[in-house]
Amino acid sequence: MIILKIIEIIKGLFSGSTDDKDKMLAFKVKCNKCKNINEIKVLKTYDIATVYEDDQPGNYMLKKYIVCPDCYNKIHLEIFFDKSYQIITSECDNGELLK
Ligand SMILES: [Zn+2]
Repeated sequence: MIILKIIEIIKGLFSGSTDDKDKMLAFKVKCNKCKNINEIKVLKTYDIATVYEDDQPGNYMLKKYIVCPDCYNKIHLEIFFDKSYQIITSECDNGELLK
């Protein structure tokens, strides 16, 4: 059974890579304190919330705290997306979202 699991995982590594890309979003966030560029990856299903309120600017929303590994600066990232996960508006405290 364990061997089967391993085969599944290996298969997933090769065949599932495009699927994974579809489920993930990647951002580059620059730390304002040490200027380090941190790449963060989020799962659409896990990190991104659906917006139900009409007065909000997007269909999906991401709120994330990132701790810079170099200087422990806490960066707060907030992004609103449209239905196709394009960024509508973003806010970044203590950092800068790079496009
Ligand atoms: Zn930093």
